[in-house]
Amino acid sequence: MAGRVVILGAPGAGKGTQARRVARKHGWPHISTGDIFRSHVDHKTAIGQKIESYMHSGQLVPDDLACQIVVERLAAPDCTSGYILDGFPRSVPQAESLDQMLSDRHESLDAVILLTVDDDELVERLTSRWTCPHCGKIYNVKFNPPKRENQCDKPECEGVRLVQREDDREDTVRSRLRVYHETTEPLIQHYGRRSLLQRVAGGASPEAIEQEIEGMLTAQGAS
Ligand code: AMP
Repeated sequence: MAGRVVILGAPGAGKGTQARRVARKHGWPHISTGDIFRSHVDHKTAIGQKIESYMHSGQLVPDDLACQIVVERLAAPDCTSGYILDGFPRSVPQAESLDQMLSDRHESLDAVILLTVDDDELVERLTSRWTCPHCGKIYNVKFNPPKRENQCDKPECEGVRLVQREDDREDTVRSRLRVYHETTEPLIQHYGRRSLLQRVAGGASPEAIEQEIEGMLTAQGAS
């Protein structure tokens, strides 16, 4: 059976981690609009130049652009047997557009998973997140620090300094959370009305959360 799954939650709630685990287990593509947009910015494409300032300031990029990249991505052949959408939809107009895309293809969502975490914890998690620009390894400088201050542990990254995502600085994190509460949280009602929404407390260990999500997907018949 196909599985079409949306993972919702505030920035830092663990959507990316869980989406990657679900995708790996089921062989579905993990579609992260944040990753797609970051790649456009890194490669300085025309879309990248349009969206760079929104991303760096923690604002949402315009709905039409977000919908356009998702329409294109969902049309790819690897999406026929399912996918997990991470970071999309992020507003009611995006959710309506996704509903339309699905109904045009005579498809529907199987599950919407909401990861819940307190704002204070999210600020702490995001502002402590540093990445190796060479290998992509993510460190939490409070709970999972590198062995040498601000340097990647991997031998092949000797001497490489860790960097912080521009949108993980505290003032930007706070504005991303404001945007989440104002613009994305109304999706809880949008999907709640159709009994698609399943809540998972995002404070547990990644393994425990993964198990809970698996149980929900099995119950929904998405596997
Ligand atoms: P993320 O990695 O999911 O936290 O996304 C990083 C940034 O990409 C967000 O703060 C937005 O600027 C942009 N972004 C990602 N997904 C969307 C979306 N569905 N709609 C609008 N902006 C998005």
